[in-house]
Amino acid sequence: MTLQLDARTPPGPLAEKWNRHRFEMKLVNPANKRKNTIIVVGTGLAGGAAAATMSELGYNVKCFCFQDSPRRAHSIAAQGGINAAKNYQNDGDSIYRLFYDTIKGGDFRSREGNVYRLAELSVNIIDQCVAQGVPFAREYGGLLSNRSFGGAQVSRTFYARGQTGQQLLLGAYQALERQIARGGVKMFPRTEMLDLVVIDGKARGIVTRDLVTGAIESHAGEAVVLATGGYGNVYYLSTNAQGSNATAIWRAYKRGAAFANPCFTQIHPTCIPVTGEHQSKLTLMSESLRNDGRVWVPKKPDKRDPRQIPEEDRDYFLERKYPAFGNLAPRDIASRAAKEVCDEGRGVGESGLGVYLDFADAIKRLGRDVIEERYGNLFEMYQRITDENPYDVPMRIYPAVHYTMGGLWVDYNLMGTIDGLHVTGEANFSDHGANRLGASALMQGLADGYFIIPNTIGQYLASQKPPKVDASHPAFVSAEAEVVERTNRFLSINGKRTVSSFHRELGKIMWNYCGMSRNELGLKLALKKIPELRQEFWRDVNVPGSDVELNQALEKAGRVADFLELGELMCLDALHRTESCGAHFREESQTPDGEALRDDENFAYVAAWQYAGEGKSPILNKEPLVFENVKLSQRSYK
Ligand SMILES: Cc1cc2nc3c(=O)[nH]c(=O)nc-3n(C[C@H](O)[C@H](O)[C@H](O)COP(=O)(O)OP(=O)(O)OC[C@H]3O[C@@H](n4cnc5c(N)ncnc54)[C@H](O)[C@@H]3O)c2cc1C
Repeated sequence: MTLQLDARTPPGPLAEKWNRHRFEMKLVNPANKRKNTIIVVGTGLAGGAAAATMSELGYNVKCFCFQDSPRRAHSIAAQGGINAAKNYQNDGDSIYRLFYDTIKGGDFRSREGNVYRLAELSVNIIDQCVAQGVPFAREYGGLLSNRSFGGAQVSRTFYARGQTGQQLLLGAYQALERQIARGGVKMFPRTEMLDLVVIDGKARGIVTRDLVTGAIESHAGEAVVLATGGYGNVYYLSTNAQGSNATAIWRAYKRGAAFANPCFTQIHPTCIPVTGEHQSKLTLMSESLRNDGRVWVPKKPDKRDPRQIPEEDRDYFLERKYPAFGNLAPRDIASRAAKEVCDEGRGVGESGLGVYLDFADAIKRLGRDVIEERYGNLFEMYQRITDENPYDVPMRIYPAVHYTMGGLWVDYNLMGTIDGLHVTGEANFSDHGANRLGASALMQGLADGYFIIPNTIGQYLASQKPPKVDASHPAFVSAEAEVVERTNRFLSINGKRTVSSFHRELGKIMWNYCGMSRNELGLKLALKKIPELRQEFWRDVNVPGSDVELNQALEKAGRVADFLELGELMCLDALHRTESCGAHFREESQTPDGEALRDDENFAYVAAWQYAGEGKSPILNKEPLVFENVKLSQRSYK
């Protein structure tokens, strides 16, 4: 049976939808709020903001994260900034322009209503964070400072040096801690959600494992919010934190939540290149660096020290190919351009998989002090990792997996296809279409957490009035038993291969066949290789230790087992979408000059995949995308 995908986008003019919806939504009166328990999984910007705000409103909140402290969520790693249409620069920005840039940046594969609301809320986010004391960079006169990010011709990115995520998360974390101290939020750190419990078609709770003691427990509530981040680590090597994983959303998928556009993966152009097999993590060099750094390779293969290569022998390929946006071309386009010059044999560094990001001109123009003030911590990080001083020698960068635009399908209220299951931040598929613009993930996570979910959760509770259940309900008992059985299964295999070796092999398949560019032959090969690898995993994985102690191999086994299933769904999605759009580049569908060629007639929809049971092909559901305000056009940054 297919799903009825109702996006529930409110009618009316774009600019009035959210306000009108807020007025029309039902409210839960203050005295009744505390009778409802909301389960929030995740304490990054999306989850931390949601948990704190809902507790502030009076709901009982139970909040979970797998780290030892909520403030260690992966959001802390975000570097470059957060977008907002404040137009402090008076350079032509507006809510409509941010909306338009985001729709266009996502290659017309997101919903107009959602994206407009995001642009609208962006301005409130900055006010909220400033009130919390987030130390955004300021101009000499005291106004908040801005810089530019890819895919925009205005400066609208607010930042705190190269530590924007950390400062924003400290703001959300303080708000969360205040609620923990007040008793409104009960926090469960080092606790991993391993299943979603659905009763009478409604999400009613979760099953968790205490990562220190191994205890399996159930938690019941009136609604569940998943804010569990992205799944880029399916590629093994990515810029994500080691722990980032897909388990929460994958288990929800297997309980009936549709998974939207799983193949839409962002490959970020500016990361430190891979150096060898030993690596388990890649490091991002923030996009903000492209404000001042110039990207180039030699015109012909050239092994000279870059400082010895004269101007006339250099190819500033982004400036050449995309004169209107230059080095600030969007990520998908900049990544493919870097791959192209490396494929031509002009890449730099030992592997040949690298391009230069050069600050010599900027240092000459602005002085080293200014560059240090803007990017000091990023330069230091680069130097520590590569042992090269980027103030003297150009950085070497190469694209790497960074962000997943796909995720659980949600409607305008951020509710998935299971009633009561809400999904926020990177874990949902929502607002970025086929390519997210830089500095827009923090914006979306905080819009979801501070401003959207605290409103829409009330609409769900007031209109559906879920009856009380507790963890003794048979659905919890049976979900717990399944979690125990699965945990024991990992430990009983006693095979020869480590979990990481399977993960690395899966990552290679994904990168080679479902990475920066994809084709039918490669995807079909991946769809053969992944099930074989999965079978081998269940036959030959070795998970040492026991289930009643801290056991990181066991944690990882569960996550990799889920990646081994999700990877297959991603390839299936990439195979079915025979058009190119945004970061999804099908080699068979390109313009004469090698840009992504969309097929709006056949693919202007969200692909929402539905689990059909063990061993069965998932069902494809389509949510048509309707554009009433923007005209679909071939994306151009030239
Ligand atoms: C290096 C780097 C730099 C970036 N820089 C920027 C930037 O400058 N600007 C920008 O806009 N975006 C940036 N991004 C993207 C952005 O940081 C993320 O998209 C965003 O922070 C995700 O936030 P989130 O709240 O959705 O998830 P996360 O911050 O990933 O939080 C996930 C939470 O879920 C919890 N969790 C996950 N699974 C489970 C489970 N099964 N059980 C219990 N808990 C679970 C975790 O413990 C954690 O608390 C960057 C990304 C990277 C990798």
